[in-house]
Amino acid sequence: MTLMAVSRDQILACLGSVAQVFADNMDYLTDLDAAIGDADHGINMQRGFAAVKTKLAEVQDKDIGTIFKAVGMALVSTVGGAAGPLYGTFFLRAGQAAGQTQELTQPEFTTVIDAGVRGVMERGKAKVGEKTMVDALQPTLDALRDALAQGRAFEEALRMAAAAAESGMKATVPLKATKGRASYLGERSIGHQDPGATSSYLIFRTLAECLAP
Ligand code: ADP
Ligand code: MG
Repeated sequence: MTLMAVSRDQILACLGSVAQVFADNMDYLTDLDAAIGDADHGINMQRGFAAVKTKLAEVQDKDIGTIFKAVGMALVSTVGGAAGPLYGTFFLRAGQAAGQTQELTQPEFTTVIDAGVRGVMERGKAKVGEKTMVDALQPTLDALRDALAQGRAFEEALRMAAAAAESGMKATVPLKATKGRASYLGERSIGHQDPGATSSYLIFRTLAECLAP
């Protein structure tokens, strides 16, 4: 089947899958954060997306913009630490960009992700190479844009985006953190995979599996 646009119901289903993935990966993400942070990233993401799931029940008949904004609000209000406001901003900006629509075409989807990623970068002031979630998010956005420019099918674009997120995540291992809690470790942050880049990869891997199985 060819994916022409992502519907509201598909987005709701994928967000439910993301919540499940963060429940399943709570210990993994917490272990990564134990190495270079304060061992709460897994708990943060699990708690945040559990709240998202509850919230989604109230907005499931609304437009995509409203749904993303509800996700952002749930994350901001339930997740302490850096990741809450950053992912919250991602979804609030994504919701603004999506607007009152029931589906997103491939160019619209790319615009929505672009708004989310730019929101994270504005809020956190991090750029690629500083060992943060931006190291997964920016390549994801670039892959979506490239796929669009090359005229690739939507499904293939989503798989390329997930692959780019994975490469970006892995590329954080040799980096020295200069933003966030891990930056307190300086050189000792080298050799560890960034937890936030890992959660960003998990989001886009789940999205690709959900929309382009
Ligand atoms: P905290 O660091 O407050 O305990 P989390 O553990 O939930 O929050 O999230 C840590 C992750 O947040 C890091 O692995 C990193 O990817 C991300 N992060 C931290 N600071 C920034 C920033 N300024 N910009 C982008 N991402 C950041
Ligand atoms: Mg932490």
